[in-house]
Amino acid sequence: MALITKKVYGTEDVLPRDSYKWQFMEDVMRKEALSYGFKEIRTPVFEHTELFQRGVGDTTDVVQKEMYTFETKGGDSVTLRPEGTAGAARAFLEHALYNDGLPVKASYFVSCYRYEKKQANRYREFHQFGLEVYGTAAPTADAELITAAQSIFDRLHVTNLQLELNSIGCPECRPNYYAALTEYFSQYKDQLCETCLSRLSRNPMRILDCKSPVCSKIAQGAPVVLDYICDDCRSHFESVQKYLDGAGVAYTVNPRIVRGLDYYTRTVFEFVTDALGAQGTVCGGGRYDGLIEQLGGQHLPSLGFALGMERLLSLMEALGIEIPPGPVCDLYIATLGEAAQMKAFSLIEQVRRSSLIAEGDIVGRSLRAQMKYADKIGAKFSMVLGDNEMAQNCAVLKNMQTGQQTQVPLDDTFFEKFFAVYLDADSKALMEQLQT
Ligand code: ATP
Ligand code: MG
Repeated sequence: MALITKKVYGTEDVLPRDSYKWQFMEDVMRKEALSYGFKEIRTPVFEHTELFQRGVGDTTDVVQKEMYTFETKGGDSVTLRPEGTAGAARAFLEHALYNDGLPVKASYFVSCYRYEKKQANRYREFHQFGLEVYGTAAPTADAELITAAQSIFDRLHVTNLQLELNSIGCPECRPNYYAALTEYFSQYKDQLCETCLSRLSRNPMRILDCKSPVCSKIAQGAPVVLDYICDDCRSHFESVQKYLDGAGVAYTVNPRIVRGLDYYTRTVFEFVTDALGAQGTVCGGGRYDGLIEQLGGQHLPSLGFALGMERLLSLMEALGIEIPPGPVCDLYIATLGEAAQMKAFSLIEQVRRSSLIAEGDIVGRSLRAQMKYADKIGAKFSMVLGDNEMAQNCAVLKNMQTGQQTQVPLDDTFFEKFFAVYLDADSKALMEQLQT
């Protein structure tokens, strides 16, 4: 039989046998976010197109080349979110979250959509985890945010990431830098790509992250922003570094990082690795003091980061970091005959109610095939219910790893007895683990 279709180019499936890896990363991120005081925000997968044009910036690659934009039947232009910051900021304003007491700290998991050329670790649908802090200009906030990211990587035992830090100034000092960039890039007008030519007058800093080989070669000789930032930005940047030093977070200052989205001001940072080839940026973020105002709110300094889940997972795999496999079936009850199956159905429910994993036959297989399946799913214990067991109202519980067998009654005390055996086996396994 021929499949009628396959997944869309640039998308990926996460299969049941692999989803524990995602869940493990997400659990660590959720816990870390909570301990830093962040609460989750969930926003729609699509927004009005102008949100991203204004929020992300209409001279960015993302907006100029990568957005999935379409017209709805009602004639509105909507766009699948290419990133999470603009939607979260829109929701923050729409629901007046600034009344909740500042700073507001929000975390998110989002799927993102960018019409890019598929490469290793570059997809058209990908996933980000992010943190956002609204309502603080203090360098402590920058340092705390960066520390939170570092702490997530530490907890995942990802050691191979370098933190690179820069300041890209503020509206006060940026005109000077723009002037210097414009002067520099104007010498190469005949070589720049078409997009960058149009950026030259509108937003010359964007030329610095053009991916075309010619433009990026030219960009290597461009003036660096750190030479142009004002005293306030400089002392802010120094202060961020002092806090990071104090927290023992290692970094290098890389004056060439500008980030690909327009909303950034002052601090920008990336966590990069050399273990993933060309797509080495796992996490990027910084301050976006002008974004909230740009979206129609008051001036409200804010900051955040987003990390690419696929890239982080690839990196963990490349580094050989073992992710603990998800929980397996605690008890499989195999049955022969309808009465036994009815009984098993209710016993299994009892086990499940106490948060253990229990399963029985829902296919109508032979006893032999049921036991084969129990083996395949790695059940820790198994039990067979047939006519004999039903008549005697007790059955044999088998520890599938050790082969040890225990009689258990099928009456009201069944769960209690099973649980005692289960705990005993569990603690023995733990002891063995500790001894090795
Ligand atoms: P790049 O320079 O690799 O294109 P970016 O600057 O466009 O990255 P951001 O917009 O800052 O990336 O997104 C934050 C993170 O999301 C990136 O550091 C990366 O880990 C991840 N990411 C971005 N685009 C993709 C993609 N197309 N596929 C997979 N992950 C991505
Ligand atoms: Mg990109």
